[in-house]
Amino acid sequence: EKLQKHKEVSTKATFSYEYFVPKTTQGVQNLYDRMDRMYESSLPQFIDITWNAGGGVLSQLSTDLVATAQSVLGLETCMHLTCTNMPVSEIDDALQKAYDSGCQNILALRGDPPVDSNEWTPVEGGFRYAKDLVKYIKAKYGDHFDIGVAGYPEGHPEDDTDDSKLIDYLKQKVDAGASFLITQMFYDADIFIAWCKKVRAAGIEIPIIPGIMPITTYAAFLRRAQWCDIHLPQEFLDRLEPIKDDDQQVRDTGTDLLVEMCQKILDSGYVTHLHLYTMNLEKAPLMILDRLGLLSQEEHVNGENSLAMLPWRKS
Ligand code: FAD
Repeated sequence: EKLQKHKEVSTKATFSYEYFVPKTTQGVQNLYDRMDRMYESSLPQFIDITWNAGGGVLSQLSTDLVATAQSVLGLETCMHLTCTNMPVSEIDDALQKAYDSGCQNILALRGDPPVDSNEWTPVEGGFRYAKDLVKYIKAKYGDHFDIGVAGYPEGHPEDDTDDSKLIDYLKQKVDAGASFLITQMFYDADIFIAWCKKVRAAGIEIPIIPGIMPITTYAAFLRRAQWCDIHLPQEFLDRLEPIKDDDQQVRDTGTDLLVEMCQKILDSGYVTHLHLYTMNLEKAPLMILDRLGLLSQEEHVNGENSLAMLPWRKS
């Protein structure tokens, strides 16, 4: 009976949460409380902390948050790190701080352009592409860090080259040493599945972790999709538009839509793990996981979910 139970648990999808860095001290404290609560109530496999493109004080906050989440709260933490406005000396400081805190996971990114600019330019002597950062981390830290990279099922907004070129860029990041990839948000399961097929056909075998953005308000749903230049399936619009002024109904129907989408991508066999963009909110991500049946109380009592291996860790 115990063996059967283990089998069920291990075939269940696992999940993780992304948090961004709040701008105020009170916001940071609230976030620690929320991370802790969400960990207790749902046992994510890991959490990750975004990097504020731009360097300086906000970037310092990212490393502080990572260190506290990893070494004080005891959460398996992944630190995003970008090349925007980051001389190599600052990259070194951030990596060293992550290393010192016991963090073993880095999501290596090129980064968005800084808020005051539309165009991305490297700093003098700094890195041009995410693959350069992956190579650097690998050369400096060997296998200490598991390195993840970003994937774009609907292409990258800056780049209108064809799909195969973009998948080739992704392959270059993997060849440089990445061992997992997290995708940009999407709402069209068919596009995602078709992309996974191409990724696998290109010989990329690392775990594909889909980024799932909960729907909290209609305005945010439209704004984020526009920002990331992703396709909105007609069904999402048909079901959300008539209730757009009632946030609670939007959240409820949005959850149903995302549960259907997640079920479909899990059934496709390409993914076994869901990464939720929490936007530092508790309710919406937990509603999705609950309706997917991934928050079974029994497992939480035994803590078995937390013992499941990270999708990219080999031993
Ligand atoms: P790259 O893979 O280096 O690509 C950058 C651009 O160069 C793309 O247009 C790509 O098509 C092109 N390119 C890549 N390789 C080559 C090549 N060999 N030759 C020519 N062109 C090439 N941003 C933040 O600032 N902070 C975050 O914390 C953050 N977290 C993210 C998390 C996820 C899961 C995702 C998907 C994105 C995140 N971003 C974050 C946004 C990301 O930084 C931007 O999308 C950025 O514009 C691209 O980063 P990248 O790592 O994908 O870059």
